[in-house]
Amino acid sequence: MGEAPPRPPGGTAGRGVRLIRTPEPWKAYIPVSQSLFVGEPYRSRLGHDTMAKRTPKDLRGPKIVAVPPGPKSKAAMARKERFITNAVKVALPIDVTAAEGPFVQDADGNVYIDLGGGIGVQTAGHRPPSVIRAAKDELDRLTHISFMVATYAPYTDLAARMAEICPPGLTKSIFLNSGSEAIENAVKISRAATKRAWLVSFKTAFHGRTLLDISLTGKDKPYRDGFGPLVREVILADYAYPYRDPQGLPPAECAKARVEEIERLINQPEVAGRVAAILAEPVQGEGGMIVPPKEFFPLLRKLCDAHGIVLVDDEVQAGMGRTGKLWAIENWNTVPDILVSGKAVGGGLPFGGVTGKPAVMDRPGPGSLGGTFGGNPVVCAAALEAIDVIQKALPKTKKLEALIRKRLDEIFDGHDRVGEVRGIGAMWALEFVKDRRTKEPDVELARAVQLAGLKNGLVLLTAGFFNNCIRLLPPINIPLPLMAKALDLLEDSLDLALAGKAA
Ligand code: PMP
Repeated sequence: MGEAPPRPPGGTAGRGVRLIRTPEPWKAYIPVSQSLFVGEPYRSRLGHDTMAKRTPKDLRGPKIVAVPPGPKSKAAMARKERFITNAVKVALPIDVTAAEGPFVQDADGNVYIDLGGGIGVQTAGHRPPSVIRAAKDELDRLTHISFMVATYAPYTDLAARMAEICPPGLTKSIFLNSGSEAIENAVKISRAATKRAWLVSFKTAFHGRTLLDISLTGKDKPYRDGFGPLVREVILADYAYPYRDPQGLPPAECAKARVEEIERLINQPEVAGRVAAILAEPVQGEGGMIVPPKEFFPLLRKLCDAHGIVLVDDEVQAGMGRTGKLWAIENWNTVPDILVSGKAVGGGLPFGGVTGKPAVMDRPGPGSLGGTFGGNPVVCAAALEAIDVIQKALPKTKKLEALIRKRLDEIFDGHDRVGEVRGIGAMWALEFVKDRRTKEPDVELARAVQLAGLKNGLVLLTAGFFNNCIRLLPPINIPLPLMAKALDLLEDSLDLALAGKAA
């Protein structure tokens, strides 16, 4: 009770808002070298007014005009502190007002190259025009009826499309609102299909934020801490992560040893014959872009076949074009029983999908799965276009991958605090260590690079079981010169961080 909460600057809901151009070209502050694109971005006078009409088509960057966090971003952070639970942590001290393609603009007028893509969502860049058009058209037709009430074309069309593009035999789907919810459903389906309880996941995995999902991750802080009791019937195994293999085995042997270890674990007396599913990310994203050896998934497939276990392929982060193939599992020539999708498929709108073999997907009883909003018509209409846009952009990933690999190798060669660079397609990480020999994780350095990156005009995300990685998730259609520029800025950010000049 008491005083009314402060309103966003701008007062009434955006009526009469005009977009103004700055009268003079902005003086760009680019610490390393001149920006590739020194355009003149639009600036909304009412930067915080979410109803303000924005046409950020001319967004160009990187361009730092107020060292971040600028005054408007600082004010937004203060409001965040006041009204939003501390349990939601914001990685970057900026308030974002617009985004277009590979660029993100903050309330103070800074423009960044976005190498995070809203946590791996904007695989074809922010707001691809055809996706936005499709969503707007659907808004004009149908916002919601619920697929549990009546069918509608965007949902069934998307399901038909998923049957076409998913690995062979995976032809039936259900759509949800998030990757987390999709994982929940994949587990429910696996349990119903096998009439078994136990689940196998990995210590360095991430499958979402629900109580079941956090039971499937080994990272206690921050995900599980204080939330127990968790789902008990979970085995957390070591993923095939050669850089930190518990026995220090080289890649092929590491893959074999890790799968043998899983076999041993599932043959324990309490568990034997009671495992419903193995859940695995083809590339572990939150874990730090861990790319398993080529033997890993074929061996997991064999193990699942031998024990009647459902292989659940979590493609929420690695899927839909991110690795250079439409689905990451194609890189391992393996067909899962269930494929879980999310993030990029929704083209920027909230989405989760479970697509699998009918013999598995049809096992839960009628009415046992669903949700009010899952497969919302606007989201499905956007998804149909997002898939098209990503499929068209997919061939570009090859050159992008080559460029990133070459530059990250150079950065690795020149900086001994980089323990490993690894990745595939447009999904990469630098893992920082205090010492290459001991591999002691350097969390502070990863954070310092992230903050230096922001000042250099980059949106960077951290990752890793130890939070000691910087991960790169650029749009797959980012112009190569712009990506080269971003990688130069990344190296400069690392130099600044090492020199203690990040903050
Ligand atoms: N699975 C994986 C592999 C993910 O990376 C994520 C999100 N980072 C999730 C599931 C959960 O998705 P969401 O955040 O949409 O619930």
